[in-house]
Amino acid sequence: ESVKGLDESVPKPHRVQDRLNEVVSPYTDRFVNTPDTDPSTEANREWARLALARSTYTQVGNETIRSSQVPGPASLETVIQDTRKAAKAWEARGTEVRAWILHQAAGALAARRGDLVSVMAAEAGKTVAEADVEVSEAIDFANYYAEAARRLDVVDGAEFVPDTLTVVTPPWNFPVAIPAGSVLAALSVGSGVIIKPAPQTQRCAAVMVEALWQAGVPREVLRYVTIDEGPLSKALIAHSDVDRVILTGGWETAQLFRSWRPDLPLLAETSGKNAIVITPSADIDLAVADLVKSAFGHAGQKCSAASLAILVGSVAESERFERQLVDAVESLKIGYPQDPQVTMGPVIEPPQGKLADGLTRLGDGETWLVEPRQLGSDARVWSPGIRTGVRPGSEFHTTEYFGPILGIMHARSLEQAIEWQNATDYGLTAGIHSLDAHEVNTWIDTVQAGNLYVNRGITGAIVQRQPFGGWKRSSVGTTAKAGGPNYLTHLGTWSPRPLRA
Ligand code: GLU
Repeated sequence: ESVKGLDESVPKPHRVQDRLNEVVSPYTDRFVNTPDTDPSTEANREWARLALARSTYTQVGNETIRSSQVPGPASLETVIQDTRKAAKAWEARGTEVRAWILHQAAGALAARRGDLVSVMAAEAGKTVAEADVEVSEAIDFANYYAEAARRLDVVDGAEFVPDTLTVVTPPWNFPVAIPAGSVLAALSVGSGVIIKPAPQTQRCAAVMVEALWQAGVPREVLRYVTIDEGPLSKALIAHSDVDRVILTGGWETAQLFRSWRPDLPLLAETSGKNAIVITPSADIDLAVADLVKSAFGHAGQKCSAASLAILVGSVAESERFERQLVDAVESLKIGYPQDPQVTMGPVIEPPQGKLADGLTRLGDGETWLVEPRQLGSDARVWSPGIRTGVRPGSEFHTTEYFGPILGIMHARSLEQAIEWQNATDYGLTAGIHSLDAHEVNTWIDTVQAGNLYVNRGITGAIVQRQPFGGWKRSSVGTTAKAGGPNYLTHLGTWSPRPLRA
Protein backbone atom coordinates (compact mmCIF):
# COMPACT_ATOMS: atom_id res chain seq x y z
CA GLU A 1 0.00 0.00 0.00
CA SER A 2 1.47 3.36 -0.96
CA VAL A 3 1.73 6.11 1.61
CA LYS A 4 0.79 9.63 0.58
CA GLY A 5 3.83 11.62 -0.50
CA LEU A 6 6.32 8.80 -0.03
CA ASP A 7 8.31 8.15 -3.19
CA GLU A 8 10.42 5.05 -2.63
CA SER A 9 12.51 5.71 -5.74
CA VAL A 10 14.11 8.83 -4.29
CA PRO A 11 17.17 7.85 -2.25
CA LYS A 12 17.49 9.49 1.12
CA PRO A 13 20.55 11.68 1.69
CA HIS A 14 23.16 10.10 3.90
CA ARG A 15 22.80 11.49 7.37
CA VAL A 16 24.92 11.37 10.47
CA GLN A 17 22.18 9.48 12.31
CA ASP A 18 22.61 6.57 9.95
CA ARG A 19 26.25 6.36 10.81
CA LEU A 20 25.58 6.69 14.51
CA ASN A 21 23.31 3.71 14.31
CA GLU A 22 25.67 1.45 12.45
CA VAL A 23 25.58 -1.91 14.10
CA VAL A 24 28.81 -3.58 15.12
CA SER A 25 27.00 -6.86 15.11
CA PRO A 26 23.40 -7.73 15.94
CA TYR A 27 22.68 -9.10 19.39
CA THR A 28 19.04 -8.26 19.56
CA ASP A 29 18.18 -11.93 20.06
CA ARG A 30 19.82 -11.90 23.49
CA PHE A 31 18.23 -8.76 24.85
CA VAL A 32 14.72 -7.97 26.07
CA ASN A 33 13.58 -4.66 27.63
CA THR A 34 12.38 -4.95 31.21
CA PRO A 35 8.74 -3.96 31.75
CA ASP A 36 7.84 -1.14 34.13
CA THR A 37 5.65 -1.76 37.15
CA ASP A 38 1.99 -2.02 36.18
CA PRO A 39 0.15 0.50 38.38
CA SER A 40 -3.26 -1.03 37.69
CA THR A 41 -2.92 -3.90 40.14
CA GLU A 42 -3.71 -3.39 43.82
CA ALA A 43 -0.53 -5.23 44.85
CA ASN A 44 1.61 -2.83 42.85
CA ARG A 45 -0.21 0.18 44.23
CA GLU A 46 0.47 -1.11 47.74
CA TRP A 47 4.13 -1.53 46.79
CA ALA A 48 4.21 2.09 45.56
CA ARG A 49 2.61 3.30 48.81
CA LEU A 50 5.24 1.52 50.86
CA ALA A 51 8.06 2.90 48.73
CA LEU A 52 6.68 6.42 49.14
CA ALA A 53 6.16 6.05 52.87
CA ARG A 54 9.82 5.13 53.24
CA SER A 55 10.94 7.97 51.02
CA THR A 56 10.37 10.54 53.73
CA TYR A 57 13.04 8.84 55.83
CA THR A 58 16.39 10.51 55.83
CA GLN A 59 18.10 7.14 55.46
CA VAL A 60 17.14 4.29 53.18
CA GLY A 61 16.36 1.57 55.69
CA ASN A 62 19.34 1.45 58.02
CA GLU A 63 22.02 0.53 55.55
CA THR A 64 25.34 2.17 55.76
CA ILE A 65 26.70 3.19 52.43
CA ARG A 66 30.39 2.54 52.16
CA SER A 67 32.05 5.33 50.36
CA SER A 68 35.63 6.28 49.94
CA GLN A 69 35.81 9.70 51.42
CA VAL A 70 38.70 11.48 49.84
CA PRO A 71 40.05 14.01 52.29
CA GLY A 72 43.09 15.11 50.35
CA PRO A 73 45.27 14.72 47.27
CA ALA A 74 47.34 11.88 48.77
CA SER A 75 44.34 9.60 49.22
CA LEU A 76 42.96 10.61 45.83
CA GLU A 77 46.19 9.31 44.34
CA THR A 78 45.76 6.07 46.29
CA VAL A 79 42.19 5.61 45.05
CA ILE A 80 43.25 6.20 41.46
CA GLN A 81 46.19 3.79 41.57
CA ASP A 82 44.32 1.10 43.54
CA THR A 83 41.42 1.21 41.09
CA ARG A 84 43.78 0.90 38.13
CA LYS A 85 45.41 -2.12 39.73
CA ALA A 86 42.08 -3.80 40.45
CA ALA A 87 40.90 -3.03 36.91
CA LYS A 88 43.69 -5.13 35.43
CA ALA A 89 42.42 -8.18 37.32
CA TRP A 90 38.83 -7.33 36.32
CA GLU A 91 39.80 -7.19 32.68
CA ALA A 92 41.69 -10.46 32.99
CA ARG A 93 38.56 -12.23 34.21
CA GLY A 94 37.26 -12.03 30.68
CA THR A 95 34.13 -10.91 28.90
CA GLU A 96 32.05 -13.94 29.78
CA VAL A 97 32.52 -13.62 33.53
CA ARG A 98 31.85 -9.89 33.41
CA ALA A 99 28.72 -10.42 31.30
CA TRP A 100 27.48 -12.93 33.85
CA ILE A 101 28.10 -10.47 36.70
CA LEU A 102 26.30 -7.71 34.77
CA HIS A 103 23.26 -9.94 34.36
CA GLN A 104 23.44 -10.54 38.12
CA ALA A 105 23.54 -6.76 38.52
CA ALA A 106 20.32 -6.48 36.53
CA GLY A 107 18.75 -8.88 39.02
CA ALA A 108 20.11 -6.97 42.00
CA LEU A 109 18.75 -3.68 40.65
CA ALA A 110 15.37 -5.34 40.07
CA ALA A 111 15.39 -6.68 43.64
CA ARG A 112 15.95 -3.15 44.93
CA ARG A 113 13.38 -1.44 42.72
CA GLY A 114 11.45 -0.28 45.79
CA ASP A 115 14.52 1.18 47.52
CA LEU A 116 15.57 2.95 44.35
CA VAL A 117 12.10 4.43 43.78
CA SER A 118 11.99 5.51 47.38
CA VAL A 119 15.32 7.30 47.33
CA MET A 120 14.59 8.96 43.95
CA ALA A 121 11.34 10.35 45.34
CA ALA A 122 13.16 11.63 48.42
CA GLU A 123 16.19 13.17 46.77
CA ALA A 124 15.08 14.10 43.24
CA GLY A 125 11.33 14.66 43.78
CA LYS A 126 10.42 12.03 41.18
CA THR A 127 6.95 10.52 41.15
CA VAL A 128 6.71 6.74 41.45
CA ALA A 129 6.00 6.41 37.72
CA GLU A 130 9.00 8.58 36.80
CA ALA A 131 11.31 6.74 39.17
CA ASP A 132 10.03 3.32 38.17
CA VAL A 133 10.95 3.75 34.47
CA GLU A 134 14.42 4.77 35.56
CA VAL A 135 14.94 1.50 37.39
CA SER A 136 13.80 -0.36 34.26
CA GLU A 137 16.30 1.62 32.20
CA ALA A 138 19.14 0.81 34.62
CA ILE A 139 18.26 -2.90 34.42
CA ASP A 140 18.18 -2.65 30.62
CA PHE A 141 21.63 -1.07 30.56
CA ALA A 142 23.01 -3.98 32.60
CA ASN A 143 21.54 -6.67 30.36
CA TYR A 144 22.26 -4.79 27.15
CA TYR A 145 25.91 -3.93 27.80
CA ALA A 146 26.54 -7.45 29.09
CA GLU A 147 25.59 -8.74 25.64
CA ALA A 148 27.15 -5.87 23.70
CA ALA A 149 30.55 -6.44 25.33
CA ARG A 150 30.53 -10.01 24.08
CA ARG A 151 30.55 -8.68 20.52
CA LEU A 152 33.50 -6.34 20.86
CA ASP A 153 35.91 -9.20 20.31
CA VAL A 154 34.49 -10.09 16.93
CA VAL A 155 35.29 -6.90 15.02
CA ASP A 156 37.60 -7.94 12.19
CA GLY A 157 41.05 -6.51 11.69
CA ALA A 158 41.32 -4.57 14.92
CA GLU A 159 41.78 -5.34 18.54
CA PHE A 160 39.84 -3.48 21.21
CA VAL A 161 41.92 -2.35 24.18
CA PRO A 162 39.60 -1.19 26.95
CA ASP A 163 40.29 1.82 29.12
CA THR A 164 41.77 0.96 32.51
CA LEU A 165 40.20 3.76 34.51
CA THR A 166 36.93 5.57 33.76
CA VAL A 167 35.61 8.42 35.86
CA VAL A 168 31.82 8.82 35.80
CA THR A 169 30.25 12.18 36.70
CA PRO A 170 26.46 11.77 36.39
CA PRO A 171 23.70 14.36 36.74
CA TRP A 172 20.96 14.59 39.42
CA ASN A 173 18.02 14.52 37.00
CA PHE A 174 18.30 10.81 36.18
CA PRO A 175 20.09 9.86 39.39
CA VAL A 176 19.89 6.08 38.88
CA ALA A 177 19.59 5.30 35.16
CA ILE A 178 22.35 7.59 33.90
CA PRO A 179 25.03 6.68 36.46
CA ALA A 180 24.06 3.02 36.10
CA GLY A 181 24.36 3.19 32.31
CA SER A 182 27.76 4.88 32.35
CA VAL A 183 29.17 2.65 35.09
CA LEU A 184 27.86 -0.59 33.57
CA ALA A 185 29.17 0.30 30.12
CA ALA A 186 32.68 0.86 31.47
CA LEU A 187 32.57 -2.24 33.68
CA SER A 188 31.37 -4.41 30.80
CA VAL A 189 34.50 -3.76 28.73
CA GLY A 190 36.80 -4.40 31.69
CA SER A 191 37.50 -0.88 32.92
CA GLY A 192 37.71 0.15 36.56
CA VAL A 193 35.36 2.96 37.56
CA ILE A 194 35.40 5.85 39.98
CA ILE A 195 31.92 7.35 40.28
CA LYS A 196 31.54 10.81 41.72
CA PRO A 197 27.78 11.22 42.20
CA ALA A 198 25.91 14.50 41.74
CA PRO A 199 25.87 16.21 45.17
CA GLN A 200 22.04 16.46 45.16
CA THR A 201 21.48 12.73 44.64
CA GLN A 202 24.31 10.90 46.36
CA ARG A 203 22.08 8.30 48.00
CA CYS A 204 20.45 7.35 44.69
CA ALA A 205 23.88 6.60 43.26
CA ALA A 206 24.92 4.86 46.48
CA VAL A 207 22.00 2.41 46.44
CA MET A 208 22.65 1.70 42.76
CA VAL A 209 26.37 1.08 43.41
CA GLU A 210 25.57 -1.11 46.37
CA ALA A 211 23.32 -3.29 44.21
CA LEU A 212 26.22 -3.74 41.78
CA TRP A 213 28.57 -4.70 44.62
CA GLN A 214 26.02 -7.21 45.89
CA ALA A 215 25.87 -8.68 42.41
CA GLY A 216 29.58 -9.42 42.43
CA VAL A 217 31.24 -6.31 41.03
CA PRO A 218 34.33 -5.95 43.25
CA ARG A 219 34.36 -2.86 45.46
CA GLU A 220 37.94 -2.23 44.42
CA VAL A 221 36.89 -2.05 40.76
CA LEU A 222 33.87 0.21 41.28
CA ARG A 223 34.68 3.03 43.67
CA TYR A 224 32.03 5.40 45.00
CA VAL A 225 33.72 8.65 45.91
CA THR A 226 32.14 11.80 47.27
CA ILE A 227 34.36 14.81 46.95
CA ASP A 228 33.69 18.50 47.01
CA GLU A 229 33.54 20.49 43.83
CA GLY A 230 36.72 22.51 43.58
CA PRO A 231 40.41 21.63 43.64
CA LEU A 232 39.94 17.92 44.41
CA SER A 233 37.38 17.42 41.65
CA LYS A 234 39.72 19.13 39.28
CA ALA A 235 42.60 16.93 40.46
CA LEU A 236 40.50 13.84 39.72
CA ILE A 237 39.22 14.90 36.29
CA ALA A 238 42.57 16.26 35.15
CA HIS A 239 44.63 13.30 36.39
CA SER A 240 46.68 11.81 33.57
CA ASP A 241 45.99 8.26 34.81
CA VAL A 242 42.29 8.72 34.14
CA ASP A 243 41.71 7.20 30.70
CA ARG A 244 38.25 8.60 30.11
CA VAL A 245 35.56 10.72 31.75
CA ILE A 246 31.89 10.01 31.08
CA LEU A 247 29.96 13.17 31.81
CA THR A 248 26.26 13.87 31.57
CA GLY A 249 25.57 17.51 32.32
CA GLY A 250 25.79 21.01 30.96
CA TRP A 251 27.84 21.95 27.90
CA GLU A 252 29.65 24.47 30.08
CA THR A 253 30.78 21.69 32.42
CA ALA A 254 32.27 19.80 29.49
CA GLN A 255 34.17 22.97 28.53
CA LEU A 256 35.38 23.37 32.11
CA PHE A 257 36.68 19.78 32.13
CA ARG A 258 38.44 20.43 28.83
CA SER A 259 40.02 23.57 30.23
CA TRP A 260 41.39 21.50 33.11
CA ARG A 261 42.85 18.92 30.75
CA PRO A 262 42.83 19.79 27.03
CA ASP A 263 43.60 16.23 25.88
CA LEU A 264 40.96 14.68 28.15
CA PRO A 265 39.22 11.74 26.48
CA LEU A 266 35.68 12.82 27.19
CA LEU A 267 32.37 11.21 26.42
CA ALA A 268 29.81 13.84 27.25
CA GLU A 269 26.06 14.07 26.74
CA THR A 270 25.28 17.71 27.29
CA SER A 271 22.55 20.32 27.02
CA GLY A 272 19.49 20.58 24.79
CA LYS A 273 16.91 23.07 23.53
CA ASN A 274 14.30 20.82 22.07
CA ALA A 275 11.15 21.52 20.09
CA ILE A 276 8.13 19.63 18.85
CA VAL A 277 6.66 20.78 15.51
CA ILE A 278 2.90 20.37 15.13
CA THR A 279 1.49 20.56 11.61
CA PRO A 280 -2.14 20.91 10.47
CA SER A 281 -2.28 17.19 9.64
CA ALA A 282 -1.45 16.19 13.23
CA ASP A 283 -3.68 14.25 15.59
CA ILE A 284 -4.14 17.20 17.90
CA ASP A 285 -5.27 15.20 20.95
CA LEU A 286 -2.17 13.02 20.73
CA ALA A 287 0.07 16.04 20.12
CA VAL A 288 -1.25 17.84 23.22
CA ALA A 289 -0.78 14.79 25.44
CA ASP A 290 2.76 14.13 24.16
CA LEU A 291 3.73 17.78 24.47
CA VAL A 292 2.55 18.03 28.08
CA LYS A 293 4.43 14.88 29.01
CA SER A 294 7.60 15.97 27.21
CA ALA A 295 7.54 19.51 28.59
CA PHE A 296 6.51 18.86 32.21
CA GLY A 297 7.64 15.31 33.03
CA HIS A 298 9.97 15.59 36.04
CA ALA A 299 9.09 19.29 36.02
CA GLY A 300 10.88 19.77 32.71
CA GLN A 301 14.25 18.85 34.21
CA LYS A 302 15.49 16.66 31.38
CA CYS A 303 18.05 17.36 28.66
CA SER A 304 15.50 15.77 26.36
CA ALA A 305 12.52 17.88 27.48
CA ALA A 306 10.32 19.83 25.06
CA SER A 307 11.03 23.48 25.67
CA LEU A 308 9.32 24.77 22.53
CA ALA A 309 6.20 23.89 20.57
CA ILE A 310 6.30 25.20 17.02
CA LEU A 311 2.77 25.38 15.63
CA VAL A 312 2.43 25.42 11.85
CA GLY A 313 -0.15 27.14 9.62
CA SER A 314 -3.75 26.60 10.73
CA VAL A 315 -2.63 25.09 14.06
CA ALA A 316 -0.94 28.41 14.77
CA GLU A 317 -3.84 30.51 13.50
CA SER A 318 -6.72 28.82 15.32
CA GLU A 319 -6.96 28.90 19.10
CA ARG A 320 -8.00 25.29 19.40
CA PHE A 321 -4.55 23.83 20.08
CA GLU A 322 -3.62 26.39 22.70
CA ARG A 323 -7.02 26.01 24.44
CA GLN A 324 -6.64 22.25 24.63
CA LEU A 325 -3.07 22.63 25.89
CA VAL A 326 -4.19 24.96 28.68
CA ASP A 327 -6.88 22.45 29.74
CA ALA A 328 -4.35 19.63 29.79
CA VAL A 329 -1.80 21.59 31.80
CA GLU A 330 -4.38 22.76 34.31
CA SER A 331 -5.26 19.14 34.98
CA LEU A 332 -1.75 18.37 36.26
CA LYS A 333 -1.56 17.92 40.01
CA ILE A 334 1.47 19.71 41.42
CA GLY A 335 3.07 18.82 44.74
CA TYR A 336 5.30 16.29 46.43
CA PRO A 337 5.68 12.76 45.08
CA GLN A 338 4.74 11.30 48.47
CA ASP A 339 1.15 12.11 47.43
CA PRO A 340 0.34 9.40 44.84
CA GLN A 341 -2.03 11.71 42.95
CA VAL A 342 0.72 14.18 42.16
CA THR A 343 1.76 14.20 38.50
CA MET A 344 4.39 16.95 38.64
CA GLY A 345 6.85 17.22 41.50
CA PRO A 346 9.09 20.05 42.71
CA VAL A 347 12.19 21.36 40.99
CA ILE A 348 15.48 20.25 42.52
CA GLU A 349 16.27 23.56 44.21
CA PRO A 350 14.72 27.04 44.37
CA PRO A 351 15.02 28.50 40.85
CA GLN A 352 17.95 30.83 40.33
CA GLY A 353 19.62 32.43 37.35
CA LYS A 354 18.27 31.39 33.96
CA LEU A 355 15.38 29.31 35.32
CA ALA A 356 14.25 32.11 37.65
CA ASP A 357 14.25 34.46 34.63
CA GLY A 358 12.36 31.97 32.50
CA LEU A 359 9.66 31.62 35.15
CA THR A 360 9.19 35.32 35.70
CA ARG A 361 10.30 37.45 32.75
CA LEU A 362 8.68 37.66 29.32
CA GLY A 363 10.52 38.65 26.16
CA ASP A 364 9.30 41.09 23.50
CA GLY A 365 5.97 40.08 22.01
CA GLU A 366 5.45 37.21 24.48
CA THR A 367 2.41 36.72 26.69
CA TRP A 368 1.59 34.12 29.32
CA LEU A 369 -0.84 31.48 28.17
CA VAL A 370 -0.40 29.90 31.60
CA GLU A 371 1.50 31.97 34.12
CA PRO A 372 3.80 29.95 36.39
CA ARG A 373 3.39 30.47 40.13
CA GLN A 374 5.18 29.36 43.25
CA LEU A 375 2.68 27.26 45.22
CA GLY A 376 2.89 27.76 48.98
CA SER A 377 6.01 28.53 50.94
CA ASP A 378 8.40 26.00 49.36
CA ALA A 379 10.29 27.81 46.58
CA ARG A 380 10.82 24.49 44.79
CA VAL A 381 7.14 23.90 44.11
CA TRP A 382 6.01 25.68 40.94
CA SER A 383 3.05 25.30 38.64
CA PRO A 384 4.04 25.01 34.98
CA GLY A 385 4.33 28.03 32.71
CA ILE A 386 3.52 28.46 29.02
CA ARG A 387 4.45 31.58 27.10
CA THR A 388 3.21 32.21 23.61
CA GLY A 389 4.50 34.53 20.89
CA VAL A 390 8.14 33.44 21.26
CA ARG A 391 10.09 35.12 18.44
CA PRO A 392 12.84 33.56 16.38
CA GLY A 393 16.27 34.57 17.64
CA SER A 394 14.89 35.65 21.03
CA GLU A 395 16.36 34.70 24.37
CA PHE A 396 13.69 32.07 24.98
CA HIS A 397 14.12 30.54 21.53
CA THR A 398 17.74 29.56 22.11
CA THR A 399 18.27 29.21 25.88
CA GLU A 400 18.02 25.98 27.87
CA TYR A 401 16.01 26.56 31.08
CA PHE A 402 15.77 23.07 32.59
CA GLY A 403 12.46 23.55 34.36
CA PRO A 404 8.66 23.54 33.94
CA ILE A 405 8.50 26.19 31.26
CA LEU A 406 7.35 25.90 27.66
CA GLY A 407 7.35 28.45 24.83
CA ILE A 408 5.12 28.51 21.76
CA MET A 409 6.18 29.76 18.33
CA HIS A 410 3.90 30.33 15.35
CA ALA A 411 5.29 29.34 11.96
CA ARG A 412 3.88 29.93 8.47
CA SER A 413 5.17 26.71 6.97
CA LEU A 414 6.87 23.45 7.86
CA GLU A 415 10.11 24.76 6.32
CA GLN A 416 10.05 27.78 8.61
CA ALA A 417 9.29 25.55 11.60
CA ILE A 418 12.26 23.31 10.84
CA GLU A 419 14.50 26.32 10.36
CA TRP A 420 13.53 27.57 13.82
CA GLN A 421 13.86 24.09 15.32
CA ASN A 422 17.43 23.91 14.00
CA ALA A 423 18.41 27.47 14.87
CA THR A 424 19.91 26.72 18.27
CA ASP A 425 23.39 25.64 19.33
CA TYR A 426 22.04 22.30 20.49
CA GLY A 427 20.73 19.18 18.78
CA LEU A 428 19.57 16.59 21.28
CA THR A 429 15.94 15.60 20.74
CA ALA A 430 13.36 16.80 18.23
CA GLY A 431 9.78 15.85 17.49
CA ILE A 432 7.12 16.24 14.87
CA HIS A 433 3.42 15.54 15.03
CA SER A 434 2.11 15.03 11.49
CA LEU A 435 0.10 12.34 9.77
CA ASP A 436 1.45 13.33 6.35
CA ALA A 437 4.30 11.04 5.27
CA HIS A 438 5.77 13.64 2.91
CA GLU A 439 5.98 16.19 5.73
CA VAL A 440 7.52 13.61 8.02
CA ASN A 441 10.17 12.63 5.48
CA THR A 442 11.05 16.24 4.72
CA TRP A 443 11.46 16.81 8.42
CA ILE A 444 13.55 13.68 9.00
CA ASP A 445 15.92 14.71 6.24
CA THR A 446 16.53 18.24 7.50
CA VAL A 447 16.18 18.35 11.26
CA GLN A 448 19.41 18.48 13.26
CA ALA A 449 19.14 16.37 16.39
CA GLY A 450 20.44 13.08 17.70
CA ASN A 451 17.07 11.64 18.68
CA LEU A 452 14.12 12.16 16.35
CA TYR A 453 10.60 11.27 17.40
CA VAL A 454 7.59 11.11 15.10
CA ASN A 455 4.10 11.21 16.63
CA ARG A 456 5.50 10.43 20.07
CA GLY A 457 6.80 12.40 23.05
CA ILE A 458 10.47 13.39 22.83
CA THR A 459 11.63 12.14 26.24
CA GLY A 460 12.06 8.62 27.52
CA ALA A 461 14.55 7.01 25.16
CA ILE A 462 14.58 3.24 25.57
CA VAL A 463 17.72 1.09 25.62
CA GLN A 464 18.27 -0.56 22.24
CA ARG A 465 15.09 0.88 20.70
CA GLN A 466 16.08 4.53 20.84
CA PRO A 467 19.76 4.85 21.73
CA PHE A 468 20.29 8.30 23.23
CA GLY A 469 22.75 11.01 22.19
CA GLY A 470 23.03 14.37 20.48
CA TRP A 471 24.59 16.62 17.87
CA LYS A 472 26.15 20.05 18.00
CA ARG A 473 26.51 21.30 21.58
CA SER A 474 24.43 18.40 22.89
CA SER A 475 27.42 16.14 22.86
CA VAL A 476 31.11 16.75 23.35
CA GLY A 477 33.90 14.53 22.16
CA THR A 478 31.76 11.72 20.80
CA THR A 479 29.07 10.46 18.49
CA ALA A 480 28.29 7.63 20.89
CA LYS A 481 24.70 6.91 21.81
CA ALA A 482 23.96 5.44 25.22
CA GLY A 483 22.07 2.16 25.01
CA GLY A 484 23.06 1.75 21.37
CA PRO A 485 25.11 -0.78 19.44
CA ASN A 486 28.41 1.09 19.26
CA TYR A 487 28.56 2.86 22.62
CA LEU A 488 31.09 0.43 24.04
CA THR A 489 33.47 0.90 21.12
CA HIS A 490 34.14 4.40 22.50
CA LEU A 491 35.41 3.07 25.84
CA GLY A 492 38.84 2.03 24.73
CA THR A 493 41.22 2.24 21.83
CA TRP A 494 41.52 0.17 18.68
CA SER A 495 44.79 -1.21 17.48
CA PRO A 496 45.32 -3.17 14.27
CA ARG A 497 45.26 -6.90 14.87
CA PRO A 498 48.55 -8.52 13.87
CA LEU A 499 48.25 -10.63 10.74
CA ARG A 500 48.44 -14.35 11.40
CA ALA A 501 50.17 -16.76 9.06
N1 GLU B 1 17.53 9.70 28.33
C1 GLU B 1 16.59 10.65 28.82
C2 GLU B 1 15.39 10.72 27.93
O1 GLU B 1 15.41 10.17 26.85
C3 GLU B 1 17.16 12.03 28.97
C4 GLU B 1 18.45 12.10 29.67
C5 GLU B 1 18.81 13.48 30.19
O2 GLU B 1 17.98 14.34 30.44
O3 GLU B 1 20.01 13.66 30.40
O4 GLU B 1 14.44 11.37 28.29
